[in-house]
Amino acid sequence: MTPSSERHGPTPRPTVARRGVCLVISAPSGAGKSTIANALRAAEPRLLHSVSVTTRQPRPGETDGVHYHFRTMDRFQQMAESGELLEWATVFGRGYGTPRAPVEAALAEGRDMVFDIDWQGHRQIRAALPADVVSLFVLPPSLAELERRLCNRASDDPEEIARRMQAARDEIAHWQEFDHVIINADLDQAIAEARSILVSARLQTRRQTGLAGIIAGFGA
Ligand code: 5GP
Repeated sequence: MTPSSERHGPTPRPTVARRGVCLVISAPSGAGKSTIANALRAAEPRLLHSVSVTTRQPRPGETDGVHYHFRTMDRFQQMAESGELLEWATVFGRGYGTPRAPVEAALAEGRDMVFDIDWQGHRQIRAALPADVVSLFVLPPSLAELERRLCNRASDDPEEIARRMQAARDEIAHWQEFDHVIINADLDQAIAEARSILVSARLQTRRQTGLAGIIAGFGA
């Protein structure tokens, strides 16, 4: 017997309404989380990126509104106090926070969003949006490799590197709070793993809010 898909072509897949995924990626700096987040966005054009607010100075090549919203400490504090930030934390003595409005808009539209934030932000965003957050921690293959990667970054001076190595140890101490952990030894593999986490999060039963209507149509 000829399978029905050969006789009539493939059956169209119904579009299932769903809530967006808030994919939080944390890692010590130098573990490759920005590279992984960028590769995910390149592979998934509808994926949004949460642009954080920071009080630190832009690095060469960074653009206001694209990499961060660069703001003064006064403005940052005002945003934190007025509830404009979904979460915020002090990292390396500078303020970092996630603007609330774009996240709420993305979730309402069923769009997925990636957050490149630290463990403190992860804790707060998970508490604020427990049904929406899926989190991923990226580890370097070793601390020695992390130090080598940080030294190769032209933008950070040796003192900054030493601070970041200590911050890396502090960040890594929180690995158990995350849903998933990836060891980034091979970048392509790490990207593939991150993508499968996103795909699997999209398919979670509770997230696919439109399934009940579709299944009702099955007459089951
Ligand atoms: P960098 O200054 O290297 O861009 O980022 C320093 C650290 O701040 C990284 O660990 C990064 O994930 C974290 N970070 C960036 N944006 C946010 C944010 O909006 N909230 C929190 N909690 N951490 C952030």
